[in-house]
Amino acid sequence: MEHVVIIGNGISGVTAARHIRKNSDKRITIISSETKYFFSRTALMYVYMGHMPFKDTQPYEPNFWKKNRIELVQDIVLSIDYDKKELSLKDSSPIQYDQLILAVGSKPNKFGWKGQDLSGVQGLYSKKDLDMMEENTKGITDAVIVGGGLIGVEMAEMLLTRNINVTFLIRENRFWGGVLPLEDGLLVKNHLKKHHGLTLRFEEELEEVLPDQELRVKEIITKKGEHISCQFVGLTAGVHPNVDFLKGGKLEVDKGILVNSDLSTNIPDVYAIGDCAQFKQTNGERKPIEQVWYTGRMMGETLALTLTGTPTDYNPGVWFNSAKFFDLEYQTYGWVWNELKEDEEEFIWKNEEKELLLHFVFNKESHELKGVNTFGIRLRHELFDKWIKEKVSIEEVIKKLRMANFDPEFYKRYEKEIVSDFNTKFSSNIQLAKNKWWKKALNV
Ligand SMILES: Cc1cc2nc3c(=O)[nH]c(=O)nc-3n(C[C@H](O)[C@H](O)[C@H](O)COP(=O)(O)OP(=O)(O)OC[C@H]3O[C@@H](n4cnc5c(N)ncnc54)[C@H](O)[C@@H]3O)c2cc1C
Repeated sequence: MEHVVIIGNGISGVTAARHIRKNSDKRITIISSETKYFFSRTALMYVYMGHMPFKDTQPYEPNFWKKNRIELVQDIVLSIDYDKKELSLKDSSPIQYDQLILAVGSKPNKFGWKGQDLSGVQGLYSKKDLDMMEENTKGITDAVIVGGGLIGVEMAEMLLTRNINVTFLIRENRFWGGVLPLEDGLLVKNHLKKHHGLTLRFEEELEEVLPDQELRVKEIITKKGEHISCQFVGLTAGVHPNVDFLKGGKLEVDKGILVNSDLSTNIPDVYAIGDCAQFKQTNGERKPIEQVWYTGRMMGETLALTLTGTPTDYNPGVWFNSAKFFDLEYQTYGWVWNELKEDEEEFIWKNEEKELLLHFVFNKESHELKGVNTFGIRLRHELFDKWIKEKVSIEEVIKKLRMANFDPEFYKRYEKEIVSDFNTKFSSNIQLAKNKWWKKALNV
């Protein structure tokens, strides 16, 4: 019987295993050094905040694995012999594979800051990081977080629930400047400012972490020379593929493991999926490495098809993502870059008091919708996916806004204001489509 071995029990590896099992009788083994059972990485923050015990972050009961004949090995893979198709592990005997799936995830970035390895300085990625954070933040009063991204905001929210004062160092002039356009980043910035205990330092970076006598962090110095006293430093300046142990051999590795459109690598019977995979050729405007939950799941599903007799290319379609900055909800569909491209134009509607913002980007010439960012108003994913695929014009989208709004009836709706604002800005005369029509179209 063919043996599929998967390194990594995150969302991508586990999805691949589940779907291979659905479609075949192959022997399946998942190896992971982190935990025996798969858990939801995105839920780690809720464990620290006391909303759920760690065991509830595990989507499957322990007997799921036996029932589905998926063998679990908790160990570290040290090296791979691709000729012998054999893995060397730290504690267990070598394992042979027929097909190998590398689903080894990411690691937090460390940029060689002085003092980055002192006690009390850490990133947040793994279960071990969560346990370490629990220890490192016991009884402390002040923390510094370096890097204004999604994990940084999560960490800030976690620390504030323990009444720890947080200073956030953000390199750009707004929040998540590498991803969000100016207006959007400023909205998040203003939202974060409201949180008591959170001090924001924009256009500021870490220079050095200084230790006390026990080599624990006691303060940091910023690039501009400010000294900030703290007992914890969170390093959340992004992640990179966890591929160091794979470098220097036959496998083609750049920033991530280089893969073809079907997720195969340069070595026969070796595949890579999830955060660690880097596409040799990008699909439309998608990035070569995408480190989000749903792309890992989609890659796992796609590869399972290929390995069970239906060769399939990875085709993720229109980009989407969602997140929360404390209680500000954010969704994005399609392509809204942090800077407008030459052939793009934008329409931004906002209500600062209520912290609502819609940011549409469309093609200057054809007016076709490229993407939308939305804060505080939920939009229907499937509809925007369709509109972007079908290259619907911005005017059509504005006209049919009622159809796209996902918020329940009792929320105040802003479509009339938005349409009127659009008409003023673009000297147009769009009339909002009537309820009756879109309800019928959506079958609700
Ligand atoms: C705190 C946090 C919050 C997040 N929130 C969101 C969110 O809200 N939405 C979203 O879309 N994404 C979010 N993400 C990102 C998302 O969790 C990742 O994109 C996703 O988990 C990656 O899955 P993966 O299967 O590729 O890898 P991973 O989940 O990283 O799994 C890889 C596994 O492989 C193991 N491994 C690696 N090397 C070896 C080896 N040599 N031997 C044995 N085992 C090995 C690792 O220990 C790890 O368990 C978040 C990430 C973090 C850290």
